[in-house]
Amino acid sequence: MFRSEDDEFIGFATLPDQVHRKAVKRGFEFSFMVVGETGLGKSTLINSLFLTDLYKDRKFPNHILDNAEQTVDIERKQLEIEEKGVKVRLSVVDTPGFSEALNGEKSWQPIIDYVDRQFEQYYQAESGVNRKNIQDSRVHCCLYFISPYGHGLKPIDVFMMKKLHHKVNIIPLIAKSDTLTPKERSHLKNKVMEQIEENHINIYKFPECDSDEDEEFKQQDRELKSAIPFAVVGSNTVVEVAGKKVRGRMYQWGIVEVENPAHCDFVKLRQMLISTHMQDLKDITSDIHYENYRAEHLAEQMKQSTRERMKLKRESMLNPGKMEDTDNLIAQKDAEIQRMQEMLAKMQAQLQTNPRTPVNGT
Ligand code: GDP
Repeated sequence: MFRSEDDEFIGFATLPDQVHRKAVKRGFEFSFMVVGETGLGKSTLINSLFLTDLYKDRKFPNHILDNAEQTVDIERKQLEIEEKGVKVRLSVVDTPGFSEALNGEKSWQPIIDYVDRQFEQYYQAESGVNRKNIQDSRVHCCLYFISPYGHGLKPIDVFMMKKLHHKVNIIPLIAKSDTLTPKERSHLKNKVMEQIEENHINIYKFPECDSDEDEEFKQQDRELKSAIPFAVVGSNTVVEVAGKKVRGRMYQWGIVEVENPAHCDFVKLRQMLISTHMQDLKDITSDIHYENYRAEHLAEQMKQSTRERMKLKRESMLNPGKMEDTDNLIAQKDAEIQRMQEMLAKMQAQLQTNPRTPVNGT
């Protein structure tokens, strides 16, 4: 299913199995975001994932430590790929330039603004007349890169993940895992998972495996879940191993192969992202993150209407002559507020009954 010497497939041709075939003609839209400190290998991993040099023209940030004013630039690259008649319009959103040394906490705003803007655009399109061909640029997944050099999550990671987790599916990754021994890697993975739990960070929750699946599938599912955070290695170069060309990193002491499951979790990540869980990531984005956004949006509109109503009430007291007009307006506002209250209650009830809604509430 994955790229080997003789085929160039990356695996999303299985998507029609995940969704209704009708969607195949239209194509799929999938956006993911890479977040993490500068230099952790984000763009290299993207290249490794999609075999394309998406980042050829990328401007590297000027040397960060000298440039404390640097802001986070959001960069979106789009790519249309087709495999066995299945089209995927893929957007990769890069967030270069974030670093703890650079007042990292300030880096979250443009990232969150970007995610919200996509929700807003979708919301506008959905409320508009032409609802059939809505472009879905919502961020379906955030690959969060964790440094292999520290002792787990840094305060900036906890901070960033908490800003993001109610808005997007976070998949944590241990970056540059070729720098760790298997023991160090497993220690770091455990530590990161403990910290995620302690800090109540809601990372993407993999769906439960159906009980009627066959044993092989169940085993794969268990392995996938137990590998989180995926320890990845990226490389832009192709090297030769036993006469075969593979993506890898060549060191004096040997070669680390990106697509060798014994070397890292890259294949697991690609498999879940593209082949097995793409549709679920889209569903969670739509049913939970976007619904949350809509509920917040509606609550905000309700506040605004309530303020307007209070203003009208004050005006009616100051100008008893215009009383009738103002009373009508107040009645209209009351009806509007009630409609919104009902919608909000319905949305909240739906969110609560969704088994994938995190327990500590999004
Ligand atoms: P970004 O700033 O997070 O996008 O990082 P880049 O992809 O530009 O990579 C920064 C540096 O790390 C480059 O020199 C890469 O060759 C190197 N690099 C990328 N991925 C890996 C990896 O998996 N392992 C190791 N050891 N180095 C890597």
